Amino acid sequence: MKFKFTDYHVHTAKWSTDIDRNGPYFEDYIKLAEIHEINVCFLDHFELYSIEEDKTNPFSDGNIDNYLEEIDELKETYDFIFSGLEVEYYRDREIELLEFMDDYNRELDFIGGTIHEWIPGYPITTREKLLKLLDIKEIKTIIDEYFETCEMMVNSKIFKNICHIDTIFRYINENDIKPTKDCNISEERVLELGRMCIKNNLRIEYNISGERFPIGRPFPSKAIITQLVKEGGKYFVGSDSHSLNYFEKQIPKVKDAYKYLNSIRNHLSDK
Ligand SMILES: [Zn+2]
Ligand SMILES: [Zn+2]
Repeated sequence: MKFKFTDYHVHTAKWSTDIDRNGPYFEDYIKLAEIHEINVCFLDHFELYSIEEDKTNPFSDGNIDNYLEEIDELKETYDFIFSGLEVEYYRDREIELLEFMDDYNRELDFIGGTIHEWIPGYPITTREKLLKLLDIKEIKTIIDEYFETCEMMVNSKIFKNICHIDTIFRYINENDIKPTKDCNISEERVLELGRMCIKNNLRIEYNISGERFPIGRPFPSKAIITQLVKEGGKYFVGSDSHSLNYFEKQIPKVKDAYKYLNSIRNHLSDK
């Protein structure tokens, strides 16, 4: 790749449904990435349930091949872009996910495993949907189920890269939807999940998007990612951009995050 650092996590308007239709396209990101000298990996949402049931999902009807074709064509001109997908994990769809990985692992440069929902239609990363989920489940149960599902994803070894490991705290935190006293929201719990990634040799995302949510910190926190890197964890950095303006502002922060994490890693190998 042309540049030193890579933002591994950006979404486009055409291929991710949670973006404004006027939002950024591949070429918009490419323009800015070139100016600010950073490689960029497109990581649009790939969610089996939505693809099967919602015909308006951009990946319905086998459209993934068009997605790849579009990126591959751009790659002929630009040597600083990666094709990727943020693939939703479902515990009851492991076989299909494995088949998918078999078919597409080689076609794509990068696949990140991710969890936004475990009951289709109730993503915990949308505030309004999370409130609906809270109507039917206790907050403690939601947090516990999130971590359980993450553990299953990590131990399934379907994915080599794991996105935003504690994104459950996007809205559930002291600044927003407050956890009750019986909830385990400890940093230790996130650390254990990260250690499970290390054990399975998976790369952990340092997702800096948390700063724009009430939680006000990356996923996972700086302290946790620092500890995980000290313990030998492999990592990648993502801005999780859904708009161009945001992406541009994050570029220096993505680079700083790599410099910081690399310095910890290099310091280890000096010893
Ligand atoms: Zn995500
Ligand atoms: Zn994302």
